[in-house]
Amino acid sequence: MTELDLDGLRRRYAAERDKRIRPDGNSQYVPTTGRFAHLGNDPFTVRAGRAAKHDHVTVTIIGGGLAGLVTGARLREAGLDDLRIVDKGGAFGGVWYWNRYPGAGCDTASMIYLPLLEETGYRPTERYARGPEILAHCDRIAERYGLAPRALFHTAVTSLDWDDARSRWIVATDRGDEFTSQFVVIGTGGLSAAKLPGVPGIETFGGHCFHASRWDYAYTGGDPEGAPLHRLATRRVAIIGTGATAVPCIPHLARSCQELFVFQRTPASVDARVNARIDRDWFASVATPGWQERWLENFCANMSAGDFPSRDLVDDEWTDLAKRVRRRLTTPRPGPAGSADLRADIEALDFEKMSEIRARVDAVVRDPATAARLKAWYRQLCKRPCFSQDYLSAYNLPSVHLVDTDGKGVERITPAGVVAAGVEYRVDCIIYASGFEVAPVRSHDFAMTGRAGVKLTEYWSTGMRSLHGLHVRNFPNAFFLLPNQAANFAANVPHNLTDMAQTIAVVISHVLARGFERVEAEEQAERAWLEQLKPNPSAISFLSDCTPGYYNNEGQVSPDSLRNGYRLGPLAYFRLMKRWRSSGDFPGLAFGHRPVA
Ligand code: NDP
Repeated sequence: MTELDLDGLRRRYAAERDKRIRPDGNSQYVPTTGRFAHLGNDPFTVRAGRAAKHDHVTVTIIGGGLAGLVTGARLREAGLDDLRIVDKGGAFGGVWYWNRYPGAGCDTASMIYLPLLEETGYRPTERYARGPEILAHCDRIAERYGLAPRALFHTAVTSLDWDDARSRWIVATDRGDEFTSQFVVIGTGGLSAAKLPGVPGIETFGGHCFHASRWDYAYTGGDPEGAPLHRLATRRVAIIGTGATAVPCIPHLARSCQELFVFQRTPASVDARVNARIDRDWFASVATPGWQERWLENFCANMSAGDFPSRDLVDDEWTDLAKRVRRRLTTPRPGPAGSADLRADIEALDFEKMSEIRARVDAVVRDPATAARLKAWYRQLCKRPCFSQDYLSAYNLPSVHLVDTDGKGVERITPAGVVAAGVEYRVDCIIYASGFEVAPVRSHDFAMTGRAGVKLTEYWSTGMRSLHGLHVRNFPNAFFLLPNQAANFAANVPHNLTDMAQTIAVVISHVLARGFERVEAEEQAERAWLEQLKPNPSAISFLSDCTPGYYNNEGQVSPDSLRNGYRLGPLAYFRLMKRWRSSGDFPGLAFGHRPVA
């Protein structure tokens, strides 16, 4: 390890965090209303008319993204045909349906990110799949499991009400549907509602503007496959934000715009991401029965400190830090190591990793002042790490201007452009890459009322509560796909989703096979599970020291705000759930019949 000034780095990280921290936390953001209200409209698929539904189905899945698709798939595998998927969009895909910005793709390896590869017999074309391939895979899953005829698209659920006497949910939608369903599955995603910086003047801008999650190709030219954004050749464009959405967009904008102004509040940490075609013969040699499960477990084990496998199948920049930790832990040391020693080791390795990421900026960006402003001064997992081969080099183009706001953010929007540090940058177009609301279930999406009139918003008013991230007391026959109360593995959400879908299929099959009519989490079991989610003091201290972002509740860290997954880690969660499912008696759940009238 090269000699690093550890104290100096600690001081620098703390100073960068302090300058970015702000008292308004999450309330600094505003929802996409007013001129952004069109975000609810679907520019991709024509809305077809249909008759309202007033029937009964066994299972209703809300959300046709990866969560809904894998749940539908597992239910169909379990022999359940009477299911319905409801989604606001015009087709399957969820975030991948809506987010079609140039460069969109997943920087988690496609071998583990794309669910049900083995079941669908699909070989990803590239090591990191791009948006269009992910969207096509969503359709492939739907096709394989016959889900399309069971979907109601362009339909938003407006309320879910538990009918205790009949042991079923009443589902109402914005299309006039009012049908009943024995079970409901909430797979609406945790990062789907776009948000905007709450700065003055957003409504006054006289030019064109849009949120990156609703890319306006009619204005920019180009397409999601990466064709040049030719209509921007005569445009001055601002992009606000430098997170995981902006990083892949910016190289495309840089190549096309007359002038591009990138408004940065906190620099992203941008590591390498070398994409490559997936070779047919290599894939055939890997894809032996059970291969994807092995890859998922291997990745998860590599990322779960203390449980490292001897091989790293994914072997990329995501697993690099974990590999360094493993090397350090397996190097003999003079005496026994206490937990403080281990924490110090991990911190030092993180400093080393981030120093390399900063050195990468110097190696790529020619202007030293710009390079200095692009360097991230925080620990790697404080914010979602970014990976790109062409983000940093975009700043070498004379038409690309980095406007670093020194942690303060843009000040306001005027009719002519964007103001930062008192300077107005006049532009034709503003693109907001300012992220998404972080919410398990957005209360303003639909109202959910459970047993004895308990409202979900009230039940969760002091924080989310669930058993295994799936079952919520007072909400019988409802299943929530809430990775943050399950394994919560940041780098690979689909692994959570497929495992939770498996649990849902097993529990619903059990209810139906045994002639029960309802299933609900027991109070004590839910309480005990919450105890299992309590973060340990070192996790609280790690996140408290981090620069603000959605990983640490915008810097407002409290044990309740950080119920971030099973405290023994994702691998332990998956093992626990496997045992729990195969036990056959599902401890913590109460099964029953409808109450006698
Ligand atoms: P983020 O919340 O990560 O980023 C929002 C950006 O907007 C940040 O750079 C933020 O700065 C900036 N911002 C907010 N307010 C202001 C302001 N007032 N002035 C200037 N800048 C501002 O959203 P993203 O859409 O980039 O990513 C969201 C998540 O979506 C990711 O973390 C990831 O989980 C997921 N995603 C996953 C991908 C994948 O490969 N699987 C690809 C893309 C997204 P600051 O950092 O200071 O808050």
